[in-house]
Amino acid sequence: MNMVEAESSKEVSNAIFSRDVDKKREDYLEWTDYFMATAFLAAKRSKDPCSQVGACIVNQEKRIVGVGYNGMPFGCSDDEYPWKKASTSRLETKYLYVCHAEMNAILNKNCSDVKNCTIYVALFPCNECAKLIIQSGISEVVYMSDKHSAKEETIAAKRMFDSAGIKYWQYVPKRKQITIDFTEIDWNRMTQLPPTPLKETK
Ligand SMILES: [Zn+2]
Repeated sequence: MNMVEAESSKEVSNAIFSRDVDKKREDYLEWTDYFMATAFLAAKRSKDPCSQVGACIVNQEKRIVGVGYNGMPFGCSDDEYPWKKASTSRLETKYLYVCHAEMNAILNKNCSDVKNCTIYVALFPCNECAKLIIQSGISEVVYMSDKHSAKEETIAAKRMFDSAGIKYWQYVPKRKQITIDFTEIDWNRMTQLPPTPLKETK
């Protein structure tokens, strides 16, 4: 082992000992962060240029039973249907076509119903989604942003939630960011094995 290899092997050993591999991790993701992050991850699939929204439905056993994001209905091509917010013809705006995240999450459910489930949404649901949430039996709404609180759609949604006894509360994240690093999974391999020197071919 040469000097460089010895140094790098020492660094590797230090990296291993800096983690207590016998003790439960403290910085694991909490349930609410996990479910809201799932809604945000789903939103990344959205083709909407202005508003990417995700929703995640969770049952009483803390199992995810439906995930959705805003998008065009099946068979209606993302490339053919309009994404515009304004046009001389309403038929050329997205509003008549896009399915909201809440609708997709409810319809994507992988169980018989979503009664007494909680829905995690990035944005406070509109009135149309509020109707779907109420009728599907969802009993709680956790939202991140209420930026459209002055809009009639939001006021109507809250009015219906109040009448139907749906609990809703704003989620305040414990951390600002959650990083997904695809290389993390190889932590053991990367830290426990010293770099293999390349064999010289003659
Ligand atoms: Zn909606």
